[in-house]
Amino acid sequence: MKWSFRLATIAGTEVRVHLTFFLLLLFVAVQGTGGGQGADGGLAAVVLVCAMFFCVLLHEFGHVFAARMYGIKTPDITLLPIGGVARLERMPRTPLHEFVVALAGPMVNVAIAAGIAIVLGLRVRFDANYAFHQSGGFWQHLMMWNIFMVVFNLVPAFPMDGGRILRALLAMVTDYEKATRWAATMGQGIAALVVVGMLLSGTFQPFLLLIAFFIFVAAGQEASVVTQEEATRSLVVQDAMMVEFHALAADAELRVAVNHLLAGTQQDFPVLDEAGGMQGMVSRTRLIAALADHGPEHLAREVMEVCAEKVAPLMPLGEALRVLREMSCPAVPVVDPLTGRLVGLLTGENVGEVLMVRAALKQAGVRRVG
Ligand SMILES: [Zn+2]
Repeated sequence: MKWSFRLATIAGTEVRVHLTFFLLLLFVAVQGTGGGQGADGGLAAVVLVCAMFFCVLLHEFGHVFAARMYGIKTPDITLLPIGGVARLERMPRTPLHEFVVALAGPMVNVAIAAGIAIVLGLRVRFDANYAFHQSGGFWQHLMMWNIFMVVFNLVPAFPMDGGRILRALLAMVTDYEKATRWAATMGQGIAALVVVGMLLSGTFQPFLLLIAFFIFVAAGQEASVVTQEEATRSLVVQDAMMVEFHALAADAELRVAVNHLLAGTQQDFPVLDEAGGMQGMVSRTRLIAALADHGPEHLAREVMEVCAEKVAPLMPLGEALRVLREMSCPAVPVVDPLTGRLVGLLTGENVGEVLMVRAALKQAGVRRVG
């Protein structure tokens, strides 16, 4: 993540702190000096916030160690003012594993809160008018913070742990995609209820509104990523690549590409060398710009973009789509690993069409075609 720096590396996981976190500390320190307590108040507030974030870190490590049991690594954890983010290498796909990994975080907070309550003999008092900063001392605050973290994280909505727990439970009785969609809908429903509740009660809480909005968007995203992953799961690159396309020879002029562009639907043109090997790609945007700058006699290879990545026909489609998303070229060249020749082009548009056709066939009950 940008604007964050490494604090330590613990058990192979880098712990990073986002710079805005220090703004939070500053804010808390200034607030703490108010209320007639001066510098001592400021220091106490900063110590408390650091202790709270240490609990957030332990929560994240709960996820990290649980994921590690299933062979999933966590390259880094970033602490932000709004909480911690552990970037798992991948999400566990077995429902039981996801359940355990998601639950492990909140369980850490349960353990901390219970530990404080037992050791110091503190009583947990739930009262609607509980004011976090006013009642009790440091340990009381820390205990309540951990209880709050448990409750907040168990809200059954993505991207909270509760959303993953819900999906894992649903996935035990239905398929993963449906489970995700149900869990996402549930999350969006909760977010909508919060907003409606706020409107009806006439109290406006900007922070709560922000969280509701965040949940609403995150839930939708999770659902669409999973839907795409599911749809491409059993497919390889050659199932979705474009095989009928015009390629430009090494000495082709821009006007050849223009003719192809006007005659058909192809927008990105690969440039080949004499042996049929891929050299680069001329996109429509580049073509038009080069045409205006240099005229139609200019060589296509002088304006092409060199594509850093290529994929093989039998690569899983999901993996190839990640390549497509991350690179600057508009299409990924599909190259036969044995001959080194260009055999197809993978474009977002074409993949979209293939998925649409498959979805339609699935709905029509056709299991296999061709
Ligand atoms: Zn968590």
